[in-house]
Amino acid sequence: MPQTASPALIDDLVAANHILVNEGVLDGFGHISVRHDQQPDRFLIARSMAPGLVTAEDIVVCDLDGNVHDAQGRKTYVERFIHSEIYRARPDVKAVIHSHSPAVIPFGVTGARLRPICHMSGFLGAQVPVFEIRRMAGEATDLLIRNQALGKALAADLGQSAVALMRGHGNVVVGVSIQQVVFRAIYTEGNARLQSEAMRMGEINFLTPEEAKAASDMNDEHLGRPWEVWKKRAQQNGL
Ligand code: MN
Repeated sequence: MPQTASPALIDDLVAANHILVNEGVLDGFGHISVRHDQQPDRFLIARSMAPGLVTAEDIVVCDLDGNVHDAQGRKTYVERFIHSEIYRARPDVKAVIHSHSPAVIPFGVTGARLRPICHMSGFLGAQVPVFEIRRMAGEATDLLIRNQALGKALAADLGQSAVALMRGHGNVVVGVSIQQVVFRAIYTEGNARLQSEAMRMGEINFLTPEEAKAASDMNDEHLGRPWEVWKKRAQQNGL
């Protein structure tokens, strides 16, 4: 008998949808999921809809083959395989965001690599991998992760990283909780903006991998602080 996910987890997932829209990470597209707290081989995600409008009633349960288990027969996003294959490959991952986060796009299509420019984005590590869909699927795709094979290839390129860019498309961010993954997605966008700016001024003095690790560990202690502000700001904006 399938077990129901905790209502608090669903509430956080709904809040995360709204926060990510309000902070400019998601728009009408993109999605966040969380691993089911009672059934680790399933995850929770909104049905196929704009993230800014998601309510608790819109959350469906999906398995790691990408099948939705929903009494009402509702569907979720075409790119659900991003989530399912990362949960399969990374038992440590409890939450996943796929977005078209705008400032990040230039780093997937040029030789410039996204790297941590400040302590808030230490989770980026040494540098961020870039997934090239052409390597798997040729030169005529619509760039979407439409099946398990593409999801597996993306998960392989992500490896043990927190973030992977998807060339000409967007990025995927993973974390051990909803709060952590939201923090990471927002600061990935912020790092991309700052790095683009700094690149115009000259050579960049990036964090060392050790600084990045230490800063990331430090920030993980304080994830609740920005979360409350982001949540309130989204509510104030009617989300
Ligand atoms: Mn997409």
